[in-house]
Amino acid sequence: MPKYRVEIDRSLCSGTSNCVEDAQDAYEMGDDAIAVVIAGACDDDLLRGARACPLEAIRVFDTQTGKRIHP
Ligand code: SF4
Repeated sequence: MPKYRVEIDRSLCSGTSNCVEDAQDAYEMGDDAIAVVIAGACDDDLLRGARACPLEAIRVFDTQTGKRIHP
């Protein structure tokens, strides 16, 4: 079971691609220039990409407790 669950706030994402550059196995840019999560991405990559977002558009939650890990 994955450790983290990730949500991308589409209203905050401005397409800077920092998440993709830092974690290309976890994030990619969608056709509308908003980041999307790659299915099956590992936990470390998910968190690293989230931390790279300058707008804190990627929220990371602990799957088991539901607690927000980042930001
Ligand atoms: S780093 Fe943040 S703002 Fe930039 S594409 Fe990724 S989610 Fe969007």
